[in-house]
Order: sequence, then C-alpha cells, then structure tokens
Amino acid sequence: MKSDKKLIDDAGKRLDGRGPEELRKIKIEVGVLHRASGSCYLEWGGNKVMVAVYGPREAIPRHTQNLLRAIVNARYNMAAFSVEDRKRPGPDRRSKEISKVISEALEKVILTEQFPRASIDVNIEVLDAEAGTRCAGLTAAGVALADAGIPMKDIPVACSAGKIEGRVVLDLGKEEDNLGDADLPIAISPRTNEILLLQMDGHLTLEEFNKALDFAIKGCNAVSEIQKKAILDKYQSVEVVE
Ligand code: UDP
Repeated sequence: MKSDKKLIDDAGKRLDGRGPEELRKIKIEVGVLHRASGSCYLEWGGNKVMVAVYGPREAIPRHTQNLLRAIVNARYNMAAFSVEDRKRPGPDRRSKEISKVISEALEKVILTEQFPRASIDVNIEVLDAEAGTRCAGLTAAGVALADAGIPMKDIPVACSAGKIEGRVVLDLGKEEDNLGDADLPIAISPRTNEILLLQMDGHLTLEEFNKALDFAIKGCNAVSEIQKKAILDKYQSVEVVE
C-alpha cells in the first residue's frame, strides 16, 4: 500500500529519527523463566518476544524420533493482542512458515547428532509486534538455546534490511515495512558469516540486493555482540555459594 507519507528525508533521517544504517534499540534478558531449560526475553524496537526452550528430551510421539540426531521444533506464535487488529489465536499459514524456516536455521547450528531420538522444543511467543518479529524471535531463540546449555557451533542471530523510497536501510520499522519497497530478513552464524535463513519480499536490483545483504550482515554482527553481552552478564553475575 502506497501513501504520501515520507519515510526518509533528504538527509537520510527516518520516521523514528534513525539513520539508514541504524538499528532500533535492543534489550535482551537471559533465563527469565524457571520451568524452561533455557529462556530469553527480548525487546527490539516495539517488538517484545519471549522464548522458552525445553529439552533435549525424548521425542514424543516416538515415530517422530530420528535415530541419528535430535529434531528441532521451533514454534512461532503471535499473541492475539500483539498486533493492531486482534489476531485470531492459533497457528496460521504465516506462523507455520516462520516456524519451519526458524527450525531449519537452528538445526544448522545445534549439534543435533549428540542427542539421537531427542527433541529440542523452542517456543517463540510474540507479545508485541512491530515488524521484524521473525528476526527478533530467532535472535532470542539463539540466546535461549545457549541459556539451556545446548551445544551449538555458534549462537545464531538475525536482522533484516530493506528498501524505502529507493534507499537501502537497516532494520525496517512498522511503517517502513508496510509502506516500503522491499524487506530482506536474514539469519547468520556470526563466526563464519554462513547464511542460515534468507527471505525477501518486494523488489530490489542486484546492486540494491547486495547492499541490503551487506547491511543485514553488519546488523547481525552488531546484534550478536548484544546477545553475547547479555549471556555474559547473566553468567558472570552468578555467584558460587560454598
Ligand atoms: N502483522 C500484523 N498481523 C499479522 C501479521 C503481521 O499486524 O497477522 C504485522 C506485525 O507488526 C509484523 C509485521 O506485520 O511484525 C510484519 O510481518 P511480516 O510477515 O513481514 O513478518 P516480520 O517482519 O514480523 O518477521
């Protein structure tokens, strides 16, 4: 949907005052749920996401078990109250697709072969949505998996870039997502820059695509530093009681 609203001015300033390569504010808390094996609460701009990881535990029903490795079940759910027009509760096509691509991204970094017949369940609950929730959910899932002590090659992280009014920018906000020209969410393994997820809607030239990918990778690396700091803050502040 197009409108006359200007998303970016001539000086490159966006609606919320950010520059083209600036992320929204991110806050990460680790280990907030007591019953989960690992958990994370993340705020990214106006997005609020809670992730709870359970497992590795015996996969049930048994026919879902893989004799050689653990299966990773990410379940992305958007709360009915998380969006402007109340969302009908329960899974829909979009949430199934997001759950699938996030499961596949996480499977690439988790050392699943260490847990044959097991399942690792990653519940992603979006409490407040303001564009970029799959990136926020995957980023929080990476932290919650680390909190659960699940062995991984790396902590996965996600971020998007896109195009608004002909300009490539990092981390689209809600109006930019609604009114912009393209959105390119990616997830990477930051140690190797291996791409774990890449989706795109809208239109970009090859040159714009390469620029957006470069922005998104830089964004992922910046978010990765925030993830690592949050994990270190939690575990360095845990005192050993004699
Ligand atoms: N959204 C909504 N209702 C829905 C699905 C999405 O209002 O049923 C909004 C929500 O703010 C979301 C944004 O549209 O963050 C963009 O959705 P998209 O499917 O692009 O996924 P996301 O950017 O959240 O990963």
